Amino acid sequence: MDKRVIALVDCNNFFVACERLRKPELLNVPVCVLSNNDGCVVSRSNEAKRMGVQMGAPYFICKNQFKKVKFLSGDLTYYCEISKRVMDKLYDFTPDVEIYSIDEAFLDLTGLRKTFNCSYEEIIERIVSEVKRDVGIDVSVGLSYSKVLAKLANDKAKNLQKNKIDKKTYKIGFRQIQKELKETLMSEVWGVGKNTSALLKKHLIQTCHDFVSQDDIWIKKNLGKVGLELKQELLGNSIHQVVSVAQAPKSISRSESFKEFQTDKNYIVNELKRHIHKVCKKMRTEELVCSCVGVMLRTKDFQVFDCKINLINPINSEFELINKAKEMLDKIFVDGVIYRSVGFFATKLSPQNSRQISLFDGESSIKKHELSKSWDKLEEKFGKGIIKLGG
Ligand SMILES: [Mg+2]
Repeated sequence: MDKRVIALVDCNNFFVACERLRKPELLNVPVCVLSNNDGCVVSRSNEAKRMGVQMGAPYFICKNQFKKVKFLSGDLTYYCEISKRVMDKLYDFTPDVEIYSIDEAFLDLTGLRKTFNCSYEEIIERIVSEVKRDVGIDVSVGLSYSKVLAKLANDKAKNLQKNKIDKKTYKIGFRQIQKELKETLMSEVWGVGKNTSALLKKHLIQTCHDFVSQDDIWIKKNLGKVGLELKQELLGNSIHQVVSVAQAPKSISRSESFKEFQTDKNYIVNELKRHIHKVCKKMRTEELVCSCVGVMLRTKDFQVFDCKINLINPINSEFELINKAKEMLDKIFVDGVIYRSVGFFATKLSPQNSRQISLFDGESSIKKHELSKSWDKLEEKFGKGIIKLGG
């Protein structure tokens, strides 16, 4: 099997790190960031961790318990901004970036050793130093052959840091896999929940090594396909690919010169319909909607006339667009003028599922989409209503 090389980049104490970026006076001070309405602790500085503040601890309790800790209200909009800067930096290394949460991303680095003319370890060292240099955020990077092992490697780096060993990267190479599997409990593995580890414990399976030593039939019977996949991932055979979302294009357009110069409006409308269909189809395959569309006419002597409109509801269906396009064409079409081409374009593109959000917000809905995704992830982690938008 072809070995993948996968890295997990994770920002350290992310919300606290963001706060320290804009308030340097918080450096070297025990700091915690609180959830919505100052409910509970969602991010802790190393100092606060060492003092014993627990993740998720209710603020009304720990504010009395830890008087020396500075507790700050969370500001998710700002954290998303910093997150975007970190992620943009990662795209400098590879297009294969899967943004997994507001502060974590998987990178498929397979083959990049040749591109960068250095070892994979050197590449991840560079990621650490360049994110720090250009964004000001500390990240840890785990490197291995599958997502599960990369996540494990990242945890190892974090553990070393907890013990005050300054190590930002950790690699689980082929020779280390068996040793790591012996040292790691199944309950520590990414994606293994309480029920699964309880079930495994019942069968006296504690470590990852115990687990991968089980035969496939037993695993399939007890944990199904997911279990078999987990076994392969732990052995360093990548099953779960890094799913990168290509950055959305800014606009989609289409135009084509007529076979012969035209003065016939019906002919032009039919050509326009063809272009609208192609543009809409492209939006749908990319799972995008647009909130601005336009028509462009080019005359025989290369003069360009165009007309565009903003849409109240972002769409990607030609049925809604054809009439609007005709209206726009009416505005720029002049009888008797000889035309060489017609074109149609869609701009202000945003992901399809952010549609609801962009309805009540004029700002870049792509950013809002990311925001809402991060929001979902946070809610998954800490429960509903954990953070609300300010302002
Ligand atoms: Mg983190």
